Amino acid sequence: MNVAVIGTGYVGLVTGVVFADLGNDVICVDKDASKVEKLSRGEPTIYEPGLEEMLQRNIRDNRITFTSDLAAAAVKADVIFIAVGTPPKSNGESDLAQVQEAAEAIARALDRYKIIVNKSTVPVGTGNFVRDLIIANRRQKVDFDVVSNPEFLREGSAIQDTLKPDRIVIGAPSKTVAMTLLELYAPLERPMMITDVESAEMIKYASNAFLATKISFINAIADLCEKVGSDVLQVAKGMGFDNRIGAAFLQAGLGFGGSCFPKDTLSLIHISTKFDEDNELLHTVVAINERRVPRFCERIEARLSPLKGKQIGMLGLAFKPNTDDLREAKSLEIIQFLLDGGARVKAYDPVAMSGAAALVPELELAENAYAAAEGADALVIVTEWNEFKLLNLERVKSLMAQPIVFDGRNIYSPERMQALGIEYHSIGRGIRKSHD
Ligand code: NAD
Repeated sequence: MNVAVIGTGYVGLVTGVVFADLGNDVICVDKDASKVEKLSRGEPTIYEPGLEEMLQRNIRDNRITFTSDLAAAAVKADVIFIAVGTPPKSNGESDLAQVQEAAEAIARALDRYKIIVNKSTVPVGTGNFVRDLIIANRRQKVDFDVVSNPEFLREGSAIQDTLKPDRIVIGAPSKTVAMTLLELYAPLERPMMITDVESAEMIKYASNAFLATKISFINAIADLCEKVGSDVLQVAKGMGFDNRIGAAFLQAGLGFGGSCFPKDTLSLIHISTKFDEDNELLHTVVAINERRVPRFCERIEARLSPLKGKQIGMLGLAFKPNTDDLREAKSLEIIQFLLDGGARVKAYDPVAMSGAAALVPELELAENAYAAAEGADALVIVTEWNEFKLLNLERVKSLMAQPIVFDGRNIYSPERMQALGIEYHSIGRGIRKSHD
């Protein structure tokens, strides 16, 4: 099938590369010419495990090309995916400017029947919005359909998630239209659900808001665990064995960040308000999340006071492991707090350091985790990269000015840290009374 994908961010690039790998002819479009240039040379513009190899293989086999010429790509395609950004406005509402720009450009290029697929996360009603834009801007009176096909991939495992999604949701105006998308996804042999456009759009928001709720729920429990002497890791494990609950998204820590959960939860709140539904639950989910970093920072400050002149080592900058994405990354909030207090911050992250340095020029970068610990008055764990779990902690201790670790992701065992003589502050692990 001839496929065009508009937007080569985390979603568009991975979608395009995987469709090409399944044997389709794919043209990926981005208005950022530097991205097009890099991708055309086979150089990924984002860090995503397995992406580089798949990208280069499909360029070599002529199944994928990159361009800034949206009109040319649209003319060639039978199916056009819109995978542009939908960032939040200051009131939480999704900004649909990129979707609008893409839809209008598609309309002007429309020369025969095509299916236009919204893969971006968009509020309910955007299918109709895109439909109206195309009708208003098309130059030839040709027919078309708009489908909603929300994306559920996770950064850090985007290729695997796209090859093996838990489900593929297709919101289409008719079964006949849905069939084309079914055909495109058929080689993946995964569960597919056909529904109406509005329900598909809501499935995406409801799913992300539910996962965000799980995270805020366990974080609220974690705070209580600290007071009553329970260990939130044990509590989450015990809860997770229950099939009705499940173990996923029950990791207490610094809260949810990244480019999706915060913005999608706020957008759903905005939709609720627009339709006169209050949605207190989601307000609370967001409020709990917003307290995570200040609470963590207050603990650091209380222990190290005054922060002025202190050197802090930081492990992890990306909003989660296996990605270089820094959008809504907790590291940035914590760094700002520490710098404002007069501390120096020396950080290490396997892939997100150049992006962080561009955002925070005062940030010092370390070559590796040990270099971040060297001379530090405290080490702060922000992203749970696997390599941090396997550090030689005796060496870490010997390098530090004072062996104090603030672990925002609970990657170490308090007992082991105690045995090593490292003062360890983690999340939701209350001090238990020993009955030995
Ligand atoms: P992104 O910001 O990384 O990428 C968007 C890309 O679109 C950019 O490269 C931009 O230059 C390009 N673009 C914007 N307008 C354009 C236009 N008119 N023509 C051509 N190119 C244009 O975004 P992303 O993280 O890939 O997310 C895309 C959408 O998918 C968002 O709605 C997001 O909420 C949703 N989503 C993201 C993820 C994720 O993990 N990142 C997961 C599921 C869904």
